Amino acid sequence: MKCDVLVIGGGPGGMSAAEYSSRYGYNTILTDPSGCGGQMMLISEVENYPGFPSSTGYELAENMEKQCTNSGVRIEYLYVKEIIKSGMNFRCLTDKEEIKAKAIIIATGAKHKELGIPGEKEYSGRGVSYCATCDGPFFKGKTVAVIGGGDSALSDALYLSNITNKVILIHRRDTFRAQKILVDRIYQKENIKLMLKKNVLKINGDGNKVTSITLNNEETIYTDGVFIFVGTKPSSEPFLPLLDNKDGYIITDEKMRTNIRGIFAVGDVRNTPLRQIVTATGDGAIASKSASEYLREIE
Ligand code: NAP
Repeated sequence: MKCDVLVIGGGPGGMSAAEYSSRYGYNTILTDPSGCGGQMMLISEVENYPGFPSSTGYELAENMEKQCTNSGVRIEYLYVKEIIKSGMNFRCLTDKEEIKAKAIIIATGAKHKELGIPGEKEYSGRGVSYCATCDGPFFKGKTVAVIGGGDSALSDALYLSNITNKVILIHRRDTFRAQKILVDRIYQKENIKLMLKKNVLKINGDGNKVTSITLNNEETIYTDGVFIFVGTKPSSEPFLPLLDNKDGYIITDEKMRTNIRGIFAVGDVRNTPLRQIVTATGDGAIASKSASEYLREIE
């Protein structure tokens, strides 16, 4: 397979980069083994994407994918394992066939972090979850614990409070890093109980499913589910041998250029001051412009 611009990753940054590249007239492939949407697919309600006062992540993703295909982007479902520079081209080795591209935009995003406590792995999928929209409906009328103090923890605690009987929000500090509007809403919800300055040491179960958690003050909290939102880590492993990075986040300049000419990076996978849908799509637009400048230079 051959293209002018290969976009690796199908989240909002990748879809925006691919749509713009195609509009510039470049033969563009976007590849993602999970298809289009990225982490956006896990968001129950997006309220801060301009022009869409309230939308599900799924709806936004579906519209962005339509814009991509309508503008001529070819979508593939291949996982890129390695990039090899070969003259003025890049050879991208995937889990199936090779893709040859003149320019590459990396938009592989980030994935959730784990707490690394006893019981977490054992009960994953049996009460332990990292996705409220995927697993929340299984806890209808039950009690769940949510761990974390960022946007994900608070917005998903609010979502879960509408489905479950009770949400126990456990955060290690007494102030939140989440947006103030979410914090205010949390304090207004009667069925959200806050446990601040507490750490979860252990997730307990009956061998089948989660039954409780143990806190650092040795208190036992009975719960049917544990939703963990303690941050994200970049999905950048295949690119790290080639690209400058800080803790796995790919370093770019303001034009989204990496240390290798012809390779650009956008969205959550890069060293950015803000990780939002709106910043990822903005990055995508800038990267496609930079890629088009690069392609004109080498041609
Ligand atoms: P985050 O902003 O990094 O927050 C992670 C939270 O987990 C922090 O409160 C942190 O506590 C806590 N934490 C980290 N390690 C922990 C540990 N070992 N034990 C207990 N608590 C721990 O991650 P996020 O909420 O997943 O958000 C990721 C990015 O996506 C952010 O840029 C966020 O703004 C964005 N996002 C935006 C929206 C939106 O705009 N609607 C929705 C979701 C996510 P400390 O605060 O003490 O460090």
